[in-house]
Amino acid sequence: MKIFEAIVNEVAARDPDQPEFLQAVREVAESVEVVLDRHPEYRSARIFERIAEPERVVMFRVPWVDDDGAVAVNRGFRIEMNSAIGPYKGGLRFHPSVNLSILKFLAFEQVFKNALTTLPLGGGKGGSDFDPKGKSDGEVMRFCQSFMTELFRHLGPHTDVPAGDIGVGGREIGFLFGQYKRIANEFTGVLTGKSPGWGGSLIRPEATGYGSVYFAQEMLSTRDDELEGKTCLVSGSGNVAQFTVEKLIELGAKPVTLSDSSGFIHDPDGIDADKLAWVMELKNERRGRIREYAENHPGVAYQAANRGADHNPLWAIPADCAFPSATQNEILSKDAAALLANGCAVVSEGANMPSSPDAVEQFTGAGILYGPGKAANAGGVAVSGLEMSQNAGMTAWKREVVDHRLSDIMFEIHAACVEAAERFGTPGNYVNGANIAGFLKVADAMLDQGVV
Ligand code: NDP
Repeated sequence: MKIFEAIVNEVAARDPDQPEFLQAVREVAESVEVVLDRHPEYRSARIFERIAEPERVVMFRVPWVDDDGAVAVNRGFRIEMNSAIGPYKGGLRFHPSVNLSILKFLAFEQVFKNALTTLPLGGGKGGSDFDPKGKSDGEVMRFCQSFMTELFRHLGPHTDVPAGDIGVGGREIGFLFGQYKRIANEFTGVLTGKSPGWGGSLIRPEATGYGSVYFAQEMLSTRDDELEGKTCLVSGSGNVAQFTVEKLIELGAKPVTLSDSSGFIHDPDGIDADKLAWVMELKNERRGRIREYAENHPGVAYQAANRGADHNPLWAIPADCAFPSATQNEILSKDAAALLANGCAVVSEGANMPSSPDAVEQFTGAGILYGPGKAANAGGVAVSGLEMSQNAGMTAWKREVVDHRLSDIMFEIHAACVEAAERFGTPGNYVNGANIAGFLKVADAMLDQGVV
């Protein structure tokens, strides 16, 4: 039996009911098989097995009172996955689908992603099955306060520093920070994604989307190509999708789609800066649905989502590049086949694990430029790391300074992936490159620190 199969079987025996977590573990284990083969010291220290087991999992009750005075109960989580190279760092997700499997997959991915950023950041993830959709600001605030009343004892600027993710944006970070400060009685950089007026970094909201476009640019430059003039599919319409579209427009590309969990729009003329401003107001202020874009812009088609279907017609629209920026497993086998059949040559993942294992195999098999999330969307956590630096130094950097650092970091991540893929025998394979480069950094730190 191959080494990776033995490892995956062991994890599967322990957590048979965690499919997303096992999917993420399997992919990394397959990539690093060649490393474990060449480096028996990692095997004898059981580095991979230790990385696949969280250092700590916190699960807690989150009771709160809605606007009608009714008591609601949600479940809160924080997965403190690995602190070999820095304090736990990773977002909080508020979405009804949140469970242990999804948060463990996200925390596991985060460990390698954070290692790639070149910054001293360990990996973690957390959240709740709370659904902010349709809730009033008061309800969201009371929920966040209750959530933080338990979480605060596990956080600290040198211990664990959460950020946002799906369902957790500037509003939620504000409420969470307010409650932390009140209970801990200290103003400290214990969350990132804060507002710039009270400790947030400029460019943090933009960072994941911009970063995923910078990563696509780097991949294209290996083939002497560029984004200008390229038609691009973008999924999602939240934080990552919005700033992906913004950067694509700036670079002369033509984004033509956006989506939410109810459906997607296709604007064949391209989403321009004015239309994007309209989307930002719709999504961030009015908290509306993407369907309204089609209702307000002539010539735009809207198609409702078909939940549970084995494909999503968004990915069958002919395009040069795809930027999945919504959620995990949103590109399935048939979607990957449709993208490839239409000549799509670049996939840069703003979302975490948006491509199913079969889709990934098709992309790497076809030799297209496929940037996996843990590399392509690392810009968000990288700027979170820069926010921590600014907080620690009691300073605030200019927009251009942060954006420049972000593009430098995306350049470094790309180079590290290319180098590791080549060194371990699969040149051009960014999946192996990202997994191996991230693994080596964490593994070496763990070896240095002994069996802990
Ligand atoms: P937001 O909550 O701002 O937006 C999420 C978008 O994805 C919304 O349009 C949402 O639609 C859609 N979506 C969420 N869940 C589903 C689902 N199950 N099916 C279909 N559509 C869905 O989140 P972000 O933009 O911050 O996050 C998007 C992705 O990027 C996630 O995978 C996240 O983990 C990843 N990511 C985010 C980072 C960040 O800095 N924010 C950093 C790195 C990765 P609806 O409104 O209908 O729910």
